[in-house]
Amino acid sequence: MPIQILPTRLANQIAAGEVVERPASVIKELIENSLDAGATRIDIEVDKGGHKRILVRDNGAGIPEQELQLALSRHATSKITSLDDLEQIISLGFRGEALASISAVARLTLSSKPAAQQQGWQARAEGRDMAVSLAPVAHPDGTSVDVVDLFFNTPARRKFLRTEKTEFAHIDEIVRRVALSRFDVAFSLKHNGKILRQYPQANNDQARDKRVALVCGGKVMESALKVQSEFQQLHLSGWLCTEPQSQNDIQYFYVNGRMMRDKLINHAIRQAFEGWLPPDTHPAFVLYLRLDAREVDVNVHPAKHEVRFHQSRMVHDFIYRALRDMLEQGVTEQSHTNSL
Ligand code: ADP
Ligand code: MG
Repeated sequence: MPIQILPTRLANQIAAGEVVERPASVIKELIENSLDAGATRIDIEVDKGGHKRILVRDNGAGIPEQELQLALSRHATSKITSLDDLEQIISLGFRGEALASISAVARLTLSSKPAAQQQGWQARAEGRDMAVSLAPVAHPDGTSVDVVDLFFNTPARRKFLRTEKTEFAHIDEIVRRVALSRFDVAFSLKHNGKILRQYPQANNDQARDKRVALVCGGKVMESALKVQSEFQQLHLSGWLCTEPQSQNDIQYFYVNGRMMRDKLINHAIRQAFEGWLPPDTHPAFVLYLRLDAREVDVNVHPAKHEVRFHQSRMVHDFIYRALRDMLEQGVTEQSHTNSL
């Protein structure tokens, strides 16, 4: 075959493979967009585990009518303009891939109204080609993205979808992760018309404890230690449960607000817990690491689960030390109380 440039649709479908693995990944991208738009309330609705329909509605900044079509194009983003920006990224998105990818493999409707605009507008893109049609629509301030028939035009991907129950479990997990990353935002999650999760805004300590209990299950976090540790530019905070868990599912670690599953971090945590938990049990934690955005590279993986720290040894040792101290202190306090 001679060398040819791929048609746009095919290029987008291939790129979609990296971003859109399953309904939960669509939801993750859409929620991140809502957060980047400054939303304080995000409502998610899914039908049939998201196979049939995914709707994410926010009260964020909205997209002006004249940018709607562009928002659906690949490499179109309002979040970075230079390599410099990339080196100190603060938004969750920056690749300009998500909406283009999703609309390449589903029927997508993007409706939006910035507060300054009189009328809401709606753009529709249906996988087959990237032709976008625009029409006025009644819409409150903010944005809704409606995704119907995921993978309708990519049967090979559709085959990988699991049962409704499994796909919903993945969605629920994504919503949990996000809910633990932004206490200042209210979330709701509806499945097949029923509201299953509701996380109201949590703007004080008590409300935040409540959300953590709601998300992780009350029992687990009842006895949690509050972590608060600083070293130079590094700051670690959150909840650490010292009761051994049979599952390792309540393990949330955020780096500058992004949920991570990172080898270096896992190693530091495992090391901190060495000798503290019975074999084959796991710690539960919700932890937040903050550091200068220039000290970490988030542009490592398209799904953005991994980071690269410039001073990885220092970060590792800081996390290890902070948690170890916490454990030793926490346990001392407990035995102290017991002996009273
Ligand atoms: P990225 O998030 O990487 O910029 P996306 O494809 O996810 O790329 O979104 C493209 C652009 O569309 C964003 O940069 C943003 O300007 C706009 N956009 C997408 N979703 C929303 C939303 N919910 N509210 C406001 N603007 C949005
Ligand atoms: Mg995005």
